[in-house]
Order: sequence, then C-alpha cells, then structure tokens
Amino acid sequence: MPSALITGITGQDGMYLAELLLSKGYRVYGLIRGQNNPKRALVEQEVPGVRLLTGDLTDLSSLIRAYEQAQPDEVYNLAAMSFVAYSWENARLTSEVTGMGVLNMLEAIRLYAGDDIAKVRFCQASSSEMFGKVQEVPQRETTLLWPRSPYGVAKAFGHHMTINYRESYGLHASTAILFTHESPRRGPEYVTRKISMAVARIALGLEKEIWLGNIDAKRDWGFAGDYVEAMWRMLQQHDGDDYVVATGQTHSIREFLSIAFRRAGITDWAGCVQHDPRLLRPAEVDMLIGDPSKAHQRLGWEPTVSFSELVEMMVDADLAEQRVLASK
Ligand code: NAP
Repeated sequence: MPSALITGITGQDGMYLAELLLSKGYRVYGLIRGQNNPKRALVEQEVPGVRLLTGDLTDLSSLIRAYEQAQPDEVYNLAAMSFVAYSWENARLTSEVTGMGVLNMLEAIRLYAGDDIAKVRFCQASSSEMFGKVQEVPQRETTLLWPRSPYGVAKAFGHHMTINYRESYGLHASTAILFTHESPRRGPEYVTRKISMAVARIALGLEKEIWLGNIDAKRDWGFAGDYVEAMWRMLQQHDGDDYVVATGQTHSIREFLSIAFRRAGITDWAGCVQHDPRLLRPAEVDMLIGDPSKAHQRLGWEPTVSFSELVEMMVDADLAEQRVLASK
C-alpha cells in the first residue's frame, strides 16, 4: 500500500486529494497545524480515512517527525498562507509559510531520507500568481515569472527552490503551476465562494446585496477536483517536471455573477451588486490564462468540469447549505 503525506489537509485541495488517494488505495497522512485546529472535525467528517499528524511548515523538526511517522512514497505540499489579499497585510508571515515553508519541506526530506532521497516523490503547489504582470499570454512553464503580490513572490521562491532540489539532489520533485480553481469547499474569503454564498442568501431572502471590488477582473478558473488529479499524475511519471494546470479559458467575475444569479432564479441582479474600492488589489494581475498543453500531452490530463458547471455546482451547494442554516 503506497503512503502519501499531504500538507494543507484542512484546505480545499487537501480534502479533494485525500479523497482521490484513499480511493486509489493509499495510506493517507495529513499534516494539521495548531493546538485544537477548528477544521480538524471537518477533515475527520469529510475524509475519515486520513491519519492526522501534527506539524507546521515553519517548524522543521515537526516536518521531519511527520516524514518519519508517515514514511511517505509521495508528498504533496499544499499548505500555504494562500489568500492573496491577506499577503499584503502579512507579507512576512506569508513569506515564512508560503516561501520558506517549502524549503523546510524539502530540507526535511533530505534529513529524513539521507542517501535514499529517490524513495520520496514531491509535488509543490505553485501558483499562476507567480506570473502576475504577465510577460506572455497564455502563460506556460517557461514564461518569465513577475509576481505582483507578497504571496506571488513567496510562491516563486518555493517554485524555484523545488526545481533547485530536483537539479541539485536528484529529488523526484514536480511543480504544479496551478491556475485558480474552485469548488463548494473553497474558503468563504475567496471571491467565487463569497459570490456563491451571497447569491444563495439573496435568493432565499436572507441578504440584499454583495460588495465586490473589480468585477471585470478575469481569471482562468477550473474545478479543484480536476486539479488534484493532475498533481497525482505528475508523481506517477518517471521524472519530476513542471506543469501548468489550467483550463486555457478566461472568464470575468461579471460572468461568474451572471451564471450564479441565473442559477438561483434571479435575472435582474445589477442592483444586488455594490462596488467597494477597498476591495481592489494594490497591484492587479493582468491576463492570467494558462496553456495546459504540456499537462495534456505528458499527463493525459484534461479538465472535466466547465466554467458554468463549476459556478452552478457552487451555487447549488450553497443554496442547500443556506436552506439548512435558515431552517435552524
Ligand atoms: P487553502 O484552502 O487556503 O488551504 C491552505 C492550507 O494550508 C490549509 O490547510 C492551512 O491550514 C494550511 N496552512 C497554512 N499555514 C500553515 C502552516 N504554517 N503550516 C501548515 N499548514 C498551514 O488552499 P487551497 O485552495 O487548498 O490550495 C492548495 C495549495 O494550492 C496552496 O498552496 C495554494 O497556495 C495553492 N494554489 C491554490 C490555488 C487555488 O485557486 N485554490 C491556485 C494556485 C495555487 P489551516 O486550516 O490550519 O489554516
């Protein structure tokens, strides 16, 4: 039975990846941080087969201990301070977790595995935010990185460090350059989930409006369940490599709103959306759109959920959840 260690197990991707690996017969360990983590119960309920280990990306010895306990064949580093807006307010902490945390994960593998480094395969969740002020459209694995937020800068550090450990020590290390991906498990601080929750509440008469920043911002949005499948496929290859994981299509927040409101039965939604300039980014990223052809060709990977299916899935889940909450 292969063994996998997932960091960021309480996050959106952590839970989808855990489900995928459990379904494939893996023994799955999840790293969980903090004393009395409030999301522990959620993980235990959603993915009960996962064995939880305590650790933090900023604490090297906790990571070495986690490797010793899990004896992993595959390691998926999904943990990060991942909210871009928060990273401007907490740039140092973001750099320590999202950037230096990757170095800790890699160094812990060296200390744990010693000369037998080839026994562990490593996947780093890199981000399209590394492209920021884009130097090429669409972005591919070779596009020059030009991050436009502390989060993007920290991800670029982790990305290059992962490649460096592959080239320096022969570690089977891959980077998944993930474009934005969503699901009903997305945190409520992200714009897509903020919209799907608000639309559900407006449709049920529990709320009147939603406040948003730039609704003409465009992103290449996919479904989280598809993206964790790509990460797994990377670690099944003979060698580690870098892959863009994206849909290759771009949509605006305005389009997201339109599909979401329509799904909830509201056609005239203009009056439900208010502009809040405080929600604009200090530095907006440009045309983020990925070219996933390498992942298509080498991994045989394709997204299976369309943009409108994704929006509808999120609205349906939030309508169901809000109905239950409202009935209590
Ligand atoms: P998420 O829902 O925000 O989850 C982040 C995870 O990191 C949580 O489990 C969190 O644990 C954990 N974490 C934070 N600080 C930690 C620390 N110091 N030590 C250990 N764990 C820590 O993120 P996601 O959407 O699943 O994304 C997974 C990965 O893909 C992240 O690295 C993200 O940056 C990257 N990515 C995501 C997207 C996207 O659109 N979702 C796009 C590009 C890249 P707590 O519950 O304890 O906070």
